Amino acid sequence: MEPETRGNEKPITGVLLPRCHLCKEVPKKGIRGGIRIRKSFICENCESRIVTLEAGCSEYQIVLEKLKKIW
Ligand SMILES: [Zn+2]
Repeated sequence: MEPETRGNEKPITGVLLPRCHLCKEVPKKGIRGGIRIRKSFICENCESRIVTLEAGCSEYQIVLEKLKKIW
């Protein structure tokens, strides 16, 4: 009988941590702290920021340009 491995996560260390494409931060939760887009990664902070950005504002344009390079 295999024991349940759920909840038995290893601590996240090393170089495998994703780095956010927009803010260059590494989320504490690692890959679960955001979403992956192709080979890039967006942390949940930036993800929620994108959602709240108004279309047409300057920051939205900057983010959009960065995302276009991934997409
Ligand atoms: Zn970010």
